[in-house]
Amino acid sequence: RSPHVATPIETYLKSLHMSLSDVMAGEVASYIPELGLADPKKFGICIATVDGQLYSVGDAGCPFTIQSMSKPFMHGYALREHGQERVARQVGVEPTGDPFNSITLDDVNNRPFNPMVNAGAIAVAELMKGDNTSERTENMLDFFGQFAGRPLEIDEQVYRSEHATGHRNRAIAYMMLNTGMLSLPPEEVLETYFRQCSIRVTCRDMAVMAATLAAHGVNPLSGQRVLSPDHVRDVLSVMSTCGMYDYAGQWAFDVGLPAKSGVAGGVIAVIPGQLGIAVYSPPLDSVGNSIRGVAVCQKFAQDFSLHAYHDR
Ligand code: GLU
Repeated sequence: RSPHVATPIETYLKSLHMSLSDVMAGEVASYIPELGLADPKKFGICIATVDGQLYSVGDAGCPFTIQSMSKPFMHGYALREHGQERVARQVGVEPTGDPFNSITLDDVNNRPFNPMVNAGAIAVAELMKGDNTSERTENMLDFFGQFAGRPLEIDEQVYRSEHATGHRNRAIAYMMLNTGMLSLPPEEVLETYFRQCSIRVTCRDMAVMAATLAAHGVNPLSGQRVLSPDHVRDVLSVMSTCGMYDYAGQWAFDVGLPAKSGVAGGVIAVIPGQLGIAVYSPPLDSVGNSIRGVAVCQKFAQDFSLHAYHDR
């Protein structure tokens, strides 16, 4: 077997990874106790192209929980299974300047502002099909597996930790019961929400999931169509404006790519028609984005002039 010769993109990723490995700023999320156990030194990057090439560096195979990066995919699921009109009754598409876990609704329409804040994601979680928790979990894992191109599982420890401490999310769900937004019992909807956040992934999985969005809904590894191009457009639009917590505006300005982060330290960004990129590095900044994750995307977008409004 001939020795592996690094491609230019692998060489590039290696030096990008090296240049950011010493960044030690930020704190690992600990409000979900189990997340506090993550190793702050772990750092992986993976790129997946729409034609199915994968390039990775560092801890790209290290498992972690998807957390809020599940939200755009659940939004996609809801659109696929219920259509735009039904989903619009459940959740808006307006960015908020509020933190992700804010206990507010849009009082004009009486619905959560968008599917990327917890209230919106919990409202969307209600749309997972199935007659009971185990059916809903099975359907959800099947859907996420189609995006990742392999079967995925729930991290039971993280799930239990979220379930034991997620009282703020309970407050949000009960508020939505009070306003008539939720029809199912809040605890059942939260079962879906806590489990979706606890899906175990790697950078490689997330890059393939992002590349499936980049490929307008076709998984580049399996060739399976997971979402229609129209629903991918809807999902990417919301990611563009609401994906990065209270940093979404600055992110649109600096990076200009649809993206989503999660509190376990994952970040994905999508370059439509080209590729998906995923980064894993647990230490977070004050709004909850992975510090190295943001830095990788900023540098990558800059080096390849990827900003959506850049003159190419
Ligand atoms: N499970 C987390 C929560 O609901 C997800 C938060 C996140 O990744 O932003 O608090």
